[in-house]
Amino acid sequence: MACAWDFQFRVLLLGDSGVGKTSLLRRYTDEEFSETTGPTVGVDFCCRIEEPEEGVKVRLQFWDTAGQERYRAVTRSYYRNAACVVLLFDLTARKSFESIQNWYQEVMERTQPHPLLIFLLGTKSDLQDHRDVTREEAQNLANTLKAPYLETSARTGSNVSAALSLLCRELLRVSKEEGPAEYSTGFSTGEEPHKHRMLCVCGP
Ligand code: GDP
Repeated sequence: MACAWDFQFRVLLLGDSGVGKTSLLRRYTDEEFSETTGPTVGVDFCCRIEEPEEGVKVRLQFWDTAGQERYRAVTRSYYRNAACVVLLFDLTARKSFESIQNWYQEVMERTQPHPLLIFLLGTKSDLQDHRDVTREEAQNLANTLKAPYLETSARTGSNVSAALSLLCRELLRVSKEEGPAEYSTGFSTGEEPHKHRMLCVCGP
């Protein structure tokens, strides 16, 4: 499908294996959820066009680490031209929350001197009875990282579109404030690794 857009942003999803990165992308792009999504069946790359303001089309290009979730295993090129990093942890798995600082540290080291927009997402919010991280401590961490914080469920779809629409609006706002940056000018499709499955959804 041929798409035209005014801005393009590369968004990276980072977090421990199993936190729900692939499921979030599936929910956002396909409106689907699979109980059996495994680390090897992930969508590695997908994009979607949003229209945060009337007549302004923004292409969000999401990259999932797909099996490279150990620190230092994510290559430097993965961060190239990124505009935003979404740090994800599983609300029912404390260890994944404790890993966020490490992921954040790695992002900072890999992306200096270019500041990136950071978002913090607590996933699997449908599993309230199994919750292992309180909203308050997650919000405190988000404040420390100067990141907006939201809780989402790929299973029910709760907050998924809202979170990614907010992210889109923030990217657009920062881009307009700071002027066109390298990451918002788009890049050749030759950079998109053809070994990855690609999805492009135009709309809604
Ligand atoms: P990834 O390794 O970070 O990409 O994680 P996946 O997306 O593969 O998800 C790991 C497991 O968590 C899978 O069994 C998913 O079905 C499950 N999962 C992902 N998101 C949710 C959610 O929002 N709620 C629930 N209950 N399970 C989820």
